[in-house]
Amino acid sequence: MSITSFNPPVRTLMGPGPSDVHPRITSAMARPTIGHLDPAFVGMMDEVKQMLQYAFQTKNQLTIPVSAPGSAGMETTFVNLLERGDKAIVCQNGVFGGRMKENVERCGATPIMVEDEWGKPVDPQKVEDALKANPDAKLLAFVHAETSTGARSDADILCKLAHDHDTLTLVDTVTSLAGCELKVDEWGIDAIYSGTQKCLSCTPGISPVSFSERAVDVITKRNSKVQSWFLDTNLVMGYWGSNAKRAYHHTAPVNALYALHEALVILQEEGLENAWARHTNNHQALRAGLEAMGLAFVVDEAHRLPQLNSVTIPDGIDEAAVRSRLLNEFNLEIGAGLGTLAGRVWRIGLMGYSSRAENIFLCLSSLEAVLSDMGADVNTGVALEAAQAAMK
Ligand SMILES: *Cc1c(COP(=O)(O)O)cnc(C)c1O
Repeated sequence: MSITSFNPPVRTLMGPGPSDVHPRITSAMARPTIGHLDPAFVGMMDEVKQMLQYAFQTKNQLTIPVSAPGSAGMETTFVNLLERGDKAIVCQNGVFGGRMKENVERCGATPIMVEDEWGKPVDPQKVEDALKANPDAKLLAFVHAETSTGARSDADILCKLAHDHDTLTLVDTVTSLAGCELKVDEWGIDAIYSGTQKCLSCTPGISPVSFSERAVDVITKRNSKVQSWFLDTNLVMGYWGSNAKRAYHHTAPVNALYALHEALVILQEEGLENAWARHTNNHQALRAGLEAMGLAFVVDEAHRLPQLNSVTIPDGIDEAAVRSRLLNEFNLEIGAGLGTLAGRVWRIGLMGYSSRAENIFLCLSSLEAVLSDMGADVNTGVALEAAQAAMK
């Protein structure tokens, strides 16, 4: 056997996630593993729950990290709320709305689709029409921050519409949590899930979720058992619940939770509003540089996510070749387009710890170097100055 230890290259991560992990988080992760029922660990679990309530801006008791990535958080919200024969309104304006549809179908429920063009936000008028046409719908599901396009939908308005029609709300905030305004209680979100590897800048693999009292009431009054044993919140709460006996359900990913704890401490130190503002300011600087170079944004300004920038590719340029040169020559990762935008855009992430000045300058200068070397029709020598001027 000639296989030896794996030493990954050191990259700068400016794609759609994972983002750069803060060094404080990787060192937290390297601390000694203890038992997942150890009283010292249980105390840390309570702090994680409390800090997640702050990050989500909620008082929801059922606010916990699911021991699996964002997709498992998505599945947790759907399998607990839906039963066979239910109806759910699902908004799709990118990749992740399509996965919501899959989840609804696999619960044996019927999805009522509200579709918008990729790159556009969810249209509240279409949602209202769907709610009126389907008074028996149990929930309205949509993606707050569509990472596949960079569009932000108005979660506040969509949730109010749903509640006017006595419908629960289920919201994907994998990319929005800690990167832009998100207020679970104020907006009336009933079921929410996120991820650790986007704007929390933690290692991938954990999914924070939260359920309102209204949602918990629906879950406890189910007629049938939740189809997934692992994701059944009734069982998970035996371990994570505030008055729980901390019964063994599954072995918690102990060190990954040290990492999440540290990520949340960092967020608390910075302050949620300051984190949102940092993402906005850094987006403005990157945007100024990219536009000075001659690249255009895909999403209208009013609906643009600061943490995920979808930009056009100069004519005649092989977009995949650019990405691989950025990776090989500059250790910089940016994202490709997905679905209908594949081959037509790059997705440049400014998430969490990746959202900082040095990354903006690295991205602009290396992109300019590669593009001008490939003979692309871009303006050279102006991007850094434009970004500098826009930087707060
Ligand atoms: C990344 C992402 C997910 C999936 O999260 P994983 O951790 O990759 O499973 C779901 N929804 C959105 C909007 C995302 O950006």
